[in-house]
Amino acid sequence: MAAPDAAGTRRALVRASHHVAPARVPRDLRRMETSQSDVIVIGAGMAGATTAAHLAPTHKVALLEAEESAGYHATGRSAAIWILNYGGADARILTGASRRFFEAPPEGFGELAHQRAVLFIAPPEQAGHLEAMIAAGEGLVPIPLAEVRDMVPALREGYAVSAAIERDAFDIDVASLHQGFLRQVKQGGGVLALRHRAGRIWFANGRWHAESSGGTVHSAPALVNAAGAWGDEVARIAGVRPIGLQPKRRTACIVDPGPYDSKDWPLIGDADHSWYVRPEARRKLMVSPADETDSEPTDAQPDEYDVAVAVDRMQQALSIEVTRIEHRWAGLRSFTPDRGLAIGPCEAPGFFWMCGQGGYGIQTAPAAGRLLASLVRGATPDEDVARAIPLTDPRRFHA
Ligand SMILES: Cc1cc2nc3c(=O)[nH]c(=O)nc-3n(C[C@H](O)[C@H](O)[C@H](O)COP(=O)(O)OP(=O)(O)OC[C@H]3O[C@@H](n4cnc5c(N)ncnc54)[C@H](O)[C@@H]3O)c2cc1C
Repeated sequence: MAAPDAAGTRRALVRASHHVAPARVPRDLRRMETSQSDVIVIGAGMAGATTAAHLAPTHKVALLEAEESAGYHATGRSAAIWILNYGGADARILTGASRRFFEAPPEGFGELAHQRAVLFIAPPEQAGHLEAMIAAGEGLVPIPLAEVRDMVPALREGYAVSAAIERDAFDIDVASLHQGFLRQVKQGGGVLALRHRAGRIWFANGRWHAESSGGTVHSAPALVNAAGAWGDEVARIAGVRPIGLQPKRRTACIVDPGPYDSKDWPLIGDADHSWYVRPEARRKLMVSPADETDSEPTDAQPDEYDVAVAVDRMQQALSIEVTRIEHRWAGLRSFTPDRGLAIGPCEAPGFFWMCGQGGYGIQTAPAAGRLLASLVRGATPDEDVARAIPLTDPRRFHA
């Protein structure tokens, strides 16, 4: 890997040929407090946190977050699972390249991975799909239904005709991962500015400027858009072409599995991905209808209908009586038009995308942050993540 440094970033910017129309410089600029850094990262969810952490050893980072808690949106609402056989080729490359980080994290992260198999079960009409998944997958193998029943005694007789299991998947300790990245940012001399929504963003004199709701203007030669569901909004504010992000709401709820001790159950879902359950603790199950309802960027709230659908689909497969929903929530998974991630530069000099994480933003985070940090530095990315570049380059949306 080439020597990474902030000067590399500046050289990469000088090489950028296509200029954006400069956004209007605010007239009241002289009265504002300004803060200079090497890179501004907008959004301190998992995408912004991993990017900032990977840049912190070489760059002075200003990490701006609109909310008063950094994981308030999608990052704090995930199912927290690492599955290799999930998503498109780019997600699988970055998920695989993140594995080592989860299994042997750097000091200060604690234990991040807790083994949990993932079980796909197929009713008759989904059997073909399951076969195709096994053929295309890696480490996804058929498992006899008798073995599934031993593992999950609640499985209803007659629901599934076949099943497959990915044994070396795992639960991710999302809070430890996220906090670990944020700690690395601070240890590297970076700043995490909570309650700082970037409301005005402009490019002038070779630098990006972001005026945050805290009243400060942050200025740096590079800016990373890691604003999750608000990614296109941030681009528009900055005078950069949006990429067509679509936030989609996903619902989850917690139920009691009744007489069953579900602690060691695998994550269970159907092959068509129309519902799944994930053990939360000894006597808790998270249930989701795997919904994808188009939404505006917002503080997503669960819809009662989606909660009912989740329970109904789960009950078709598992004999679990649900007398009470203990907790319910929803979060936004944001997708690009081709559902691939958007990681890298665009036609605007010094403007980098770190968006479109969809349903894989946690499991891909270590490798995605490493990849984008190399691109911001103007360094050659490691081989394992470089393979994803043709699939994740945001410029594909404007070709
Ligand atoms: C129910 C559910 C289950 C999921 N399960 C999994 C799973 O098992 N595994 C997995 O890998 N992924 C999963 N995901 C997906 C994962 O949660 C997301 O991909 C990931 O959290 C996205 O991170 P992010 O940082 O891009 O977005 P967010 O966490 O939403 O962060 C974006 C941040 O940007 C901030 N922001 C926006 N605009 C501005 C601005 N102008 N100025 C400053 N800050 C701004 C927001 O306040 C927000 O905090 C799941 C998601 C949901 C909803």
